[in-house]
Amino acid sequence: MLPAVARGHRGWFHPCARLSVRMSSTGIDRKGILAERVAVVTGSTSGIGFAIARRLAQDGAHVVISSRKQQNVDRAAAQLQREGLSVAGIVCHVGKAEDRERLVATALEHCGGIDFLVCCAGVNSLVGSTLGTSEQIWDKILNVNVKSPALLLSQLLPYMEKRKGAVTLVSSVAAYFPRMELGVYNVSKTALLALTRTPALELAPKDIRVNCLVPGVIKTDFSKVLHGNESLLKYLREYLQMQRIGEPEDCAGVVSFLCSPDASYITGENIAVAGFSSRL
Ligand code: NAP
Repeated sequence: MLPAVARGHRGWFHPCARLSVRMSSTGIDRKGILAERVAVVTGSTSGIGFAIARRLAQDGAHVVISSRKQQNVDRAAAQLQREGLSVAGIVCHVGKAEDRERLVATALEHCGGIDFLVCCAGVNSLVGSTLGTSEQIWDKILNVNVKSPALLLSQLLPYMEKRKGAVTLVSSVAAYFPRMELGVYNVSKTALLALTRTPALELAPKDIRVNCLVPGVIKTDFSKVLHGNESLLKYLREYLQMQRIGEPEDCAGVVSFLCSPDASYITGENIAVAGFSSRL
């Protein structure tokens, strides 16, 4: 039996039911550069993941969005469907094996295959000292941020192999410039850089590319603790070369590009979207 999926007034999308011409968020006709492709985006009912899902769909892909809470999935799917986009949603807590299995099964059942995986779901506990962190918190953060993208990719691989797909992981500039208060989160986001490069090596012969988005401070609920603090905000604006906090949409076009044929010879790369040069 199929799990509950968010359906709009159009019902579930069908691989053949698509818009031939779509508008990108820049307003430019891109004639569906991702047309006929299927994308699974985790942690995509708000923030960066939502903006990525929207952009992939605007660029022609069928997109399966997901997150932990049914009401968030329903709300986000309905919003994107109202915009005429080919989007469906299902609950998936990426740290739960049964949820990942259901996500894969549902995407295959309804879309017939999977081309792109974008792993956006992440947990950020302000745990402070890495060495003072309990084993339980270590497990939670590493399970969601590091293990789950690897396990989900393993599950999807047999289907992506047939379609020469692309994977995008989502790290953080905390991987390059760790902050004391983020503790184990820094470690997990640094691990994602390795999780990009190693599978990129392994999957290159199969024509599957693996790249990594590395956001700086982007205005979402997740980073409220940073951009909600006026004095920190002032400091950040001075520190950032672009002198503004990023918006989720700043990240979305990069991921669409990484999925597109325009990036067909790019793999194993980390691309910072941070408002400053992250080069050491
Ligand atoms: P956000 O606005 O808080 O959105 C997080 C999304 O992920 C929501 O849709 C949430 O929905 C879902 N989610 C949370 N935990 C999940 C889980 N265990 N399984 C599945 N879905 C889950 O966060 P964001 O700022 O867009 O962050 C997205 C990613 O970007 C994270 O990996 C984060 O580390 C990274 N990042 C963010 C920033 C920043 O400044 N915002 C900077 C660097 C990196 P539910 O509550 O329904 O699950």
